[in-house]
Amino acid sequence: MAQRPIIILPDPKLRLVSAKIERVDDSLRRLIDDMIETMHEAPGVGLAAIQVAEPIRLLVVDVAKKEEEPQPQVFINPEIVWSSEERATYEEGCLSIPEYYAEVERPASVRARTLAEGLLATVLQHEIDHLDGVLFIDHISKLKRDRVIKKFQKAAKRAGDGSHVL
Ligand SMILES: [Zn+2]
Repeated sequence: MAQRPIIILPDPKLRLVSAKIERVDDSLRRLIDDMIETMHEAPGVGLAAIQVAEPIRLLVVDVAKKEEEPQPQVFINPEIVWSSEERATYEEGCLSIPEYYAEVERPASVRARTLAEGLLATVLQHEIDHLDGVLFIDHISKLKRDRVIKKFQKAAKRAGDGSHVL
């Protein structure tokens, strides 16, 4: 197992729509192990493959509490097939938008591969959004979104790496 570097805003790869996985092979299993290690080390509660620059529909999630044993879950080609009308608000952050948090309102329950409620429902929606190039900042006001994108664009420029600036 090895950690993989997490790409961050404004890397344009974050806006790619990831491709469906057609077969599970050893290289996919290696990627899953690496993503679980990368998520746990970060630490984060979810990680989509595109965040380690692999544009495929794969995500790992672990919503176990700090004092509990880790419970990593793997989702291949996940789909949200139903969302509740009831809404819930969580403060979200993203390993690809470090140290920025905002409240996002989403359906309180979703049916994906299993019924997800509470924090798992939010994390799944956040990670499945990544598969379609959607970031949590797309669910907040344009004013706030433009502000955070500008901030990360400036930081990328300061780092002297203009290649990732949109
Ligand atoms: Zn994220």
